[in-house]
Amino acid sequence: MKLLVTGGAGYIGSITSELLLDAGHEVHIFDNLGRGHRKGVDDRASLIIGDLGNRADIRKAMLEVRPDAVLHFAAYALVGESMECPEMYFDNNLIGGIHLADAMIEAGVKKIIFSSTCATYGQPETMPMTEDLPQLPQNPYGESKLMLERVLQWYEKLHGICPVFLRYFNACGATGKFGEDHEPETHLIPLILQVPLGKRKKVFIFGDDYDTPDGTCIRDYIHISDLAQAHILALNEGISGAFNLGNGGGFSVKEVIEVARKVCGHPIPAETAARRPGDPARLIASAERAHSVLGWKPQYPDIKTIVEHAWQWHQAHPNGYED
Ligand code: UDP
Repeated sequence: MKLLVTGGAGYIGSITSELLLDAGHEVHIFDNLGRGHRKGVDDRASLIIGDLGNRADIRKAMLEVRPDAVLHFAAYALVGESMECPEMYFDNNLIGGIHLADAMIEAGVKKIIFSSTCATYGQPETMPMTEDLPQLPQNPYGESKLMLERVLQWYEKLHGICPVFLRYFNACGATGKFGEDHEPETHLIPLILQVPLGKRKKVFIFGDDYDTPDGTCIRDYIHISDLAQAHILALNEGISGAFNLGNGGGFSVKEVIEVARKVCGHPIPAETAARRPGDPARLIASAERAHSVLGWKPQYPDIKTIVEHAWQWHQAHPNGYED
């Protein structure tokens, strides 16, 4: 298929593009390189530098490429930042997404695979989380993604587009080629790995008084290659609707740090700090729907393998894509 990938220079977009190209698809990346990296763009893909905030940029790219489908990754994705600067999130994630969807309608492009998130659910009372739970986000990041889901649902009814919502849990790990390099970095695993890399002295645990067995937040960590694979399956004819993408198991912040100590052979000092605003205590996926409808089966569900792959990439790229 001929595909337009927004945010294809970012973490999840770069690795999904890599796997799409491996599978024989034609990939055109649309990215403003604001948070993405030119070196994260696979050299088999074409790169269109443009901004979703600018209607004309995406309209031009859509009419030029006329893709069979769009994969939409370009967005801000930090819970903490969204609590401090909500306007950035509604502007980039929602307004930018509407510009993209409008350009699709104009060009007659129907299918869109949208990077949504478990943050659209907020903190549900039941675990693991299925797709039919109420969506009550507790931060502007989750709200901005939910708002775009709703817009796309209306466009489905009224304009006949075909959206697939992939609600990611915690993406992590790396392939041999691409990995996680954010500026600023706020994600747990890359921050932990900065300690054995000699870039920071310790890692902070944001709250140890949550209602969880060891008091630290529990997340469902999913390998980036497995996440990417779900996008390829979601392109299949007839697939629509929402899918949670996680392993169905959760690890606490303390457990992840302990795994990293073993993988890296380093003591990785940790210090408890205040809770991070906007963080739910526990998020664990039920990915039953993805298994049964998409035929998705994660290849790397083991947290140790995930941390090992991240560690290999960070050792090879201690300064991320700046090397
Ligand atoms: N976290 C932490 N210390 C850090 C970074 C993150 O304790 O330096 C915690 C964070 O509060 C959350 C979990 O690790 O409970 C995963 O956070 P991350 O930012 O990686 O992903 P999120 O769940 O926010 O998408």
